[in-house]
Amino acid sequence: MNKLLKNINPEDLKKLMVDHGFQAYRVDQIFSYIYKKRIRDFQEMLLLPREIRDFLDKEFELEVFQSNTIRRSEDGSVKFLFKLRDNLSIESVYIPADNESDDDNSRKTLCVSTMAGCPVNCSFCATATLGYKRNLDTAEIIEQVLKSEEILNLKFSNIVFMGMGEPFLNIENVNSAINILSNQTYDLINSKKITLSTIGIPDRIIKYADSPNPVKIAVSLHATTNGQRAMIIPLAKSHSLTKLFDSLEYFYQKTHLPITYEYIVFDDFNNTELDAKRLAKFCSRFPSKVNLIPFNDISFTNPKPKEVELKAASKEKIEEFAALLRQYGAKVFIRDTFGKDIEAACGQLALSSEKLLK
Ligand code: SAH
Repeated sequence: MNKLLKNINPEDLKKLMVDHGFQAYRVDQIFSYIYKKRIRDFQEMLLLPREIRDFLDKEFELEVFQSNTIRRSEDGSVKFLFKLRDNLSIESVYIPADNESDDDNSRKTLCVSTMAGCPVNCSFCATATLGYKRNLDTAEIIEQVLKSEEILNLKFSNIVFMGMGEPFLNIENVNSAINILSNQTYDLINSKKITLSTIGIPDRIIKYADSPNPVKIAVSLHATTNGQRAMIIPLAKSHSLTKLFDSLEYFYQKTHLPITYEYIVFDDFNNTELDAKRLAKFCSRFPSKVNLIPFNDISFTNPKPKEVELKAASKEKIEEFAALLRQYGAKVFIRDTFGKDIEAACGQLALSSEKLLK
């Protein structure tokens, strides 16, 4: 199988081209054909001499996925199932503007995966039931955006790394993908419109804060004490909230990018007045806001029995909790759920449509 060209960074390709007697500037033309003009066949890169086109054809492949299947929801969201070259599958979800809570009605978001499966094993997340398969490579991350735009024939305004997987456990490939996606020459996406969503791994957050062009981060908090968090997020046993907030404060000081906390409201578990008080206090440390998320059902994945039984809070209960948070001074939004009818809502990505490919 030929190497995927979208996995090669421009510098490495330049070296390779020069080694083969071609001029380095050709790489800019190639990249522009791929990412700006969206060409999927080397022979269509007509500005390149035939020898270069043949060389690329012999060495590289442009098509990243074997196939794709799409499911459309009644609410306008779309779930993509992409089959990778090693037969694993991943999902991406397109979410149209949410008129109620978005300041911008033209918002078109793609939710992108960073792994096939996930090793973090959060008890509320459907992806956890798949176990961990592997990290996605750079090409597989970028291609979710290119392919979905191509299929839907539109341009995304926002990209969120909130699909399958934990971005900070695959940060190198995620970063190379972001570098291409936000490269202004290709006019794909503005880096300010990209969000990395993480379970919160303090040392990785600090390292990321020190990296050249970090993007915004959202943290899946879901609890306000260490004990409570460890019950639903096994990784929290080794990363205390103190360490997490220290790393986030460092991130804010280095980048001046405000933090978003994602908080699934579980009834009778994390929605007491004391939780609201503690959560609001976290928010007062540096500029940040809370996105309250309704708990989406994952029973279709037959998850194993849990340490605590998690129940979705009703709309009214979520609003009550939001009001408490506001009372204590936090900035709060309630996230609308999209794609429930096609198992594409937050935490529901578990390849229920995989059978369609077989
Ligand atoms: N690993 C990353 C990104 C994937 S999860 C992270 O942890 O942030 C994307 C978002 O969906 C997270 O906020 C996650 O906590 C949330 N989520 C997971 N399962 C969910 C469920 N069943 N209902 C609602 N939100 C869920």
